[in-house]
Amino acid sequence: MAACMMLAEKNVPVIWIAPEGSSKPKPGESLASSAVPLLKTLGLACILEAPGHRKVEVLFSSWGTDQLVEQNRTGLAGDLGYVIDRSVFENHIYCAAVRRPEISRCFDTAVSLERSHDSWTVTTNSGSQFEGAFVIDGTGRHSAVGRKYTTLNRSDKLAAAYDFLIQVDQDIEPTPATLIEAVADGWWYATLLQDRRLAVNYYSDPDLMPKGLGHDVETWKRIIGQSRYISRWIDTGGFGVSRPPSLASAGTTYLSTAAGPGWAAVGDAAAAFDPLSSHGMTSALWTGIEGAKAAALWLDGTSDPLMQYQNRVAEGVSQYITGRAQIYGREHRFPGSAFWQRR
Ligand SMILES: Cc1cc2nc3c(=O)[nH]c(=O)nc-3n(C[C@H](O)[C@H](O)[C@H](O)COP(=O)(O)OP(=O)(O)OC[C@H]3O[C@@H](n4cnc5c(N)ncnc54)[C@H](O)[C@@H]3O)c2cc1C
Repeated sequence: MAACMMLAEKNVPVIWIAPEGSSKPKPGESLASSAVPLLKTLGLACILEAPGHRKVEVLFSSWGTDQLVEQNRTGLAGDLGYVIDRSVFENHIYCAAVRRPEISRCFDTAVSLERSHDSWTVTTNSGSQFEGAFVIDGTGRHSAVGRKYTTLNRSDKLAAAYDFLIQVDQDIEPTPATLIEAVADGWWYATLLQDRRLAVNYYSDPDLMPKGLGHDVETWKRIIGQSRYISRWIDTGGFGVSRPPSLASAGTTYLSTAAGPGWAAVGDAAAAFDPLSSHGMTSALWTGIEGAKAAALWLDGTSDPLMQYQNRVAEGVSQYITGRAQIYGREHRFPGSAFWQRR
C-alpha cells in the first residue's frame, strides 16, 4: 500500500493486484516509533490518533534474567512505540490508497509473470492479464517475483503460535503493558490491545514446538503454563484460553538483491525479520516508499536508483542480523537448549 501511494504521489499509474483481505486477525501490533515519519511522508500523520491504538507506556521483560525488568517511556529506553489495532491501522492506509485516482485496485492473485523487452505481463488467478513497465513485489514472505530472479536466503526457521485472548472476568482492570519473556525453547510476547484482548505469541523453532500445537488447546495451555510471567498475567488478568493457537512462519528471510531491471521487492518480500525486532511493519513502509521512489526514477531513465535501493536494503539486513545476534546473545540461562544455541 505504501509503494502504491508513493507511486501515485509521483504521478505513476498503478495497478494494485492483491486478493481481498482476510477476516482472520493478523498477528503483530507493536509499531516502532520510527514508523511515524514514514506515515507522515504518506500523508497519514494522524492515523495513530484513531481509537484502537495506544502509546506503549511500559514494557516488562525477563530476558537474560529471572527477574522482570521494567522499561517505561520516561526512562532511558525513550520512545517505546505504539500498540495498534492492526486491522484498523491497515484499513486506514487501505482507504487512503484506494482514494487515489492513479491507483486501480484488482482483487485477485497474481499467478504468473512474463517479461518481454520493456514490459511485463501479469496473469491473475481469474485469467485477467495486465501489462506494465515495472513490477513491485509486495507479496510478503512468498517473495513471489523476487525468488524468480534471485536467491531467497533463510537465516533461521522461527515459527509463531499466536492467539488473541478474551477477558472472561471483566471485573479485573487489565494492565496496559507489553511483556517479553525468554524460556528454554523460545520466547513469549504478550500485549494488551485497546479493546482488552490480550495478544499472546510464542516463538520457537518448528522442530521444538510440541506436535499438534495448532490443533490442541490442552497442549497450548501446557506450554503457557511453563512460562513464569506470561501465564501469571493471563491468570491474574482474567483471560481465557479456549482454543488452539494459529501458527505462522516468523523467520528471517531476505532476497540476495531486492531489485533488478524493471522490478523491486518491498516489505517482507524483500526482507522479513524476526518479530523480536518489532520492525516488520516499519520496514514494509520504508521499503514501500523507497522502492517506489526508485521505480519512478528508473522509469524516468535515471541510471542506478535500483542499485542504490538494493544497497540500502542490504545494509539494513546486515545491521539487523548483527543487532539480532546481540539481543539473543544476552540470554545465557539455557546453555543446553537447541533454540538458543542456534542463535
Ligand atoms: C507472528 C508475527 C508477529 C509479528 N509481529 C510484528 C510486530 O509486532 N510489529 C511489526 O512491525 N511487525 C510484526 N510482524 C511482521 C509484520 O507483520 C510484517 O513485516 C508485515 O506484515 C509485512 O508487510 P508486507 O505488506 O510486506 O507483507 P504482508 O503483510 O504479508 O502482505 C502481503 C500481501 O501480498 C498479498 N499476496 C501474496 N501473494 C500474492 C500474489 N501472488 N498475488 C497478489 N497478492 C499476493 C497477500 O494477500 C497480502 O495482502 C510480525 C509477523 C509475524 C508472523
